[in-house]
Amino acid sequence: MSCERRVVHRFLPESCPAPRLAVEYAPMGKEANIGKVVRQHLEMEQFFAGFAPKGERAAVAAAPQSQRGGMTLAEKTAELEKIAEEVRRCCKCGLGSSRTHAVPGEGNPNARIMFVGEAPGADEDAQGRPFVGRAGQLLDKIIEACGLKREDVFIGNVLKCRPPENRDPHAEEIIACLPYLQRQIEIIQPETIVALGAHAARTLLNTAESIGQLRGRFHEYYPGIGRPPIKLMATYHTAYLLRNYSQENRRRVWEDMKKVLAELGLPIPK
Ligand code: SF4
Ligand code: URA
Repeated sequence: MSCERRVVHRFLPESCPAPRLAVEYAPMGKEANIGKVVRQHLEMEQFFAGFAPKGERAAVAAAPQSQRGGMTLAEKTAELEKIAEEVRRCCKCGLGSSRTHAVPGEGNPNARIMFVGEAPGADEDAQGRPFVGRAGQLLDKIIEACGLKREDVFIGNVLKCRPPENRDPHAEEIIACLPYLQRQIEIIQPETIVALGAHAARTLLNTAESIGQLRGRFHEYYPGIGRPPIKLMATYHTAYLLRNYSQENRRRVWEDMKKVLAELGLPIPK
């Protein structure tokens, strides 16, 4: 489903003041400002949401999968489908009118690992499914190399609709779309998030650091009030890896994934 017209920001609901402030008063139209605008918005959100005390994670992670987040599998499935339906109808940013299909994300509602990419590409836009093109095939290989199946994990994106010509996301698009991903994380409650590439890592960590600086170590993603932080591993995007398919880069991504497996207590294939 596509949008017939672009919704302008003054039509955002009154209950949603932060995105409008960020969108209207931040200097727009310059790539260099995108990180700043998104960061400002996230800082505003975090200011209101507060931070959860550390140290609760172990207890939460030790709870049975089906009860993590206090929801049954059926409840999680239904909530995720509700979000997917909203996304398919969404026109909160201009990408709603250029997409063929929105790509809400898919996978196991009880996933211990959630992969987050940047935005759908041409193949994903055509099929309405995340990571099904070449970058997706490489992600499948990485998941398999970890001894896992695609059905074990959840795969989503920061933006749910394809930017024309696969251009970088704009700040106002990230601000409009991010609540969907935040809600998906809140429902799934993964133990680890793997942020694929700079856009996902910077958005979720609210930082301007480069992917080179961010990758290879765990960070904390703060899901909001009353929720313990979630471990986040930043690594290279598989599309970047395809363009720069050196031994060294492949080794780096594999090292990052081995850290994720170790953190989850999963066996590390040789
Ligand atoms: Fe809505 Fe996100 Fe698509 Fe923009 S990219 S129209 S906010 S679902
Ligand atoms: N690249 C992404 O970031 N996401 C997809 O779904 C596909 C390619």
